[in-house]
Amino acid sequence: MTKAIEEIRAEIARAAKIAGRSADDVSLIAVSKTRAADDIRPLLAAGQRVFGENRVQEAADKWPEMIADYPDITLHLIGQLQSNKAAEAVALFDVIHSVDRLSLITALGQAIASAGKAPDCFLQVNVGAEEQKGGCAISEIAALLTQAKAAGVPIIGLMCLPPADTEAAPYFALLHELAQRHGLPALSMGMTADYPTAIMLGATHIRIGTALFGARSG
Ligand SMILES: *Cc1c(COP(=O)(O)O)cnc(C)c1O
Repeated sequence: MTKAIEEIRAEIARAAKIAGRSADDVSLIAVSKTRAADDIRPLLAAGQRVFGENRVQEAADKWPEMIADYPDITLHLIGQLQSNKAAEAVALFDVIHSVDRLSLITALGQAIASAGKAPDCFLQVNVGAEEQKGGCAISEIAALLTQAKAAGVPIIGLMCLPPADTEAAPYFALLHELAQRHGLPALSMGMTADYPTAIMLGATHIRIGTALFGARSG
């Protein structure tokens, strides 16, 4: 596992160099969903501090103990978020990647106001216009950004999960273009299968599970 992280760091450096970017501008999010603490702790020992989970409840069960041991851990929520879990998500996560609709923005705004702390947020965009997937339509981005601003939800960038089984690069390029158009500095895109491409196309946050931990069983 320590070897895997070394290899990924080297690959990040290689892709960043080709693109004329600094590897320091790419944050590696270790996606630890479904992994037990015993599988995560070796990565903590290897110096990794940024982790991604896709379920609020799983993260709430798993992370408090490890955060007590490593207070500088940064937790990212990368999965879909129900509005009724907004308060719990704001309490636990430093970054939320799955903001995609007005009802959730309203709930997050209220949670942020009462918690007195705000996670950095990404607007998730359904770049392939896939019915089953989370994320807003491209045509909704401008309105949702305005609504997030009014609600006190800080949006720092755009996030996408491109359609599976097809070339991701055009979708990454599109997300980059959309972020630039709206003056957003951060781009959450790229997973195990395609992160070097995502980095060459401007990703600032890559989300890697399988390459770090092996294939997920469930
Ligand atoms: C699981 C997941 C990942 C990690 O995918 P791998 O292919 O295992 O690297 C990245 N992003 C999201 C939103 C995920 O749910």
